[in-house]
Amino acid sequence: MQTNFTEAQLQNPDNAASEQILRKCVHCGFCTATCPTYVLLGDELDSPRGRIYLIKDMLENDKPANEKIVTHIDRCLSCLSCMSTCPSGVNYMHLVDHARKYIEETYERPWHDRMLRSLLAFLLPKVGLFRVAMIGAMIAKPLAPLFPAKGKLARMRAMLELAPNSLPSPSPTDRPGVHAADTPRRKRVALLTGCAQRALNPEINESTIRLLTRHGCDVVVSDGIGCCGALTHHMGKEDLALAAAKANIDAWTREIEGQGLDAIVINASGCGTTVKDYGFMLREDPVYAEKAEKVAALTKDISEVMTDLGLGAVVRETAGIKIAYHAACSLQHGQQIKTLPKRALRAAGFQVVEPIDPHLCCGSAGTYNLLQPEIAGQLKDRKVETLEKLKPDVIAAGNIGCMTQIQSGTGVPVVHTATILDWATGGPVPQALEGVWSDEAVRPAQAMEAAD
Ligand code: SF4
Ligand code: SF4
Repeated sequence: MQTNFTEAQLQNPDNAASEQILRKCVHCGFCTATCPTYVLLGDELDSPRGRIYLIKDMLENDKPANEKIVTHIDRCLSCLSCMSTCPSGVNYMHLVDHARKYIEETYERPWHDRMLRSLLAFLLPKVGLFRVAMIGAMIAKPLAPLFPAKGKLARMRAMLELAPNSLPSPSPTDRPGVHAADTPRRKRVALLTGCAQRALNPEINESTIRLLTRHGCDVVVSDGIGCCGALTHHMGKEDLALAAAKANIDAWTREIEGQGLDAIVINASGCGTTVKDYGFMLREDPVYAEKAEKVAALTKDISEVMTDLGLGAVVRETAGIKIAYHAACSLQHGQQIKTLPKRALRAAGFQVVEPIDPHLCCGSAGTYNLLQPEIAGQLKDRKVETLEKLKPDVIAAGNIGCMTQIQSGTGVPVVHTATILDWATGGPVPQALEGVWSDEAVRPAQAMEAAD
């Protein structure tokens, strides 16, 4: 695609990066067929190609964002399905991230929108406050049906519907410290314990730590880590996102320069996609650019780490258990990790099945299900229907956002892939399956497969 930026505009590093991206797009439109919002709404401006044209026009002409642009960019899930499809390698993620930042700088949203976004950006990354907010939402949850499913108040309904029925206690494993390997040490890894995930489902970090220590990893929960910044990054609140990224980089750099790290493990793929992008996000920062690159290069999804380690002895009766695997967009499109989680589950003896249209988003997408509840609700219904058709015993996913979204629409237990692998290799029964699965060892533990 031909671009028309001036030399002066290209002095801005964000414009320079976006120009390179825009030049790769050949308008072919292959991406439209796999874009969830285009599939649902059928409007070219709600397709990747349409959004690319809107962004190009806005940036090239130094136009402040307007209501039309904001409407179509806000409807984008950042699911990155378009990046999986694009034959030209257009980095839509960096382009839409730039557009969101530009919108935040040049457009004044209606007051209620500003208030909600600021509240989410303030609350979600702070585990303690988020827990208090969740308790409030749990109490008010029965009122959800009183709010309309469409229009401005639909956001209130979505927030209440997504509130959990109960809130687990904080987990001691999330405190800074080192969880020593159960077997001779093979790797020293850091775990990002996250923010909302810690409040909603502490079992994910607990089971990840058990799984890793059982497979010979020392697991470090570094002092100073917190939210990865993805939630604010996707709202265009760049200062908040970069502050969160820098805090994590400082904490992990201390570990890297201290006893060293073989990997930074992420068990929420939405966070993983962002941490792997820290190098790009901080590329112009003279203090952080190099450190951010190092951190990004060390970052791995838990399924990648388990592939490196090789799954150890399976001690439970897993044959006959049917798992419907839900591929989180951030994992399959953002990180291009498509087969590793399924391979690990199959290696553990489970029957793994997938719904039709596995490339389509479930509608969670960070704060999307709160900000765009109507589209998110349609995507959820569609995803739940395709998953339930498989008649699975359990649904597995590698991202807390998808898990919460899908669980709010189905009675089938939704469990993190790492939690299932932990049970299979000797961990306790996942909470959602207590009374259904057994913690009896049916096979003796055998020596683990050779490393790497
Ligand atoms: S990120 Fe997802 S919703 Fe946004 S344009 Fe690409 S495919 Fe469509
Ligand atoms: S598939 Fe890629 S090259 Fe084709 S229109 Fe979409 S973004 Fe552009």
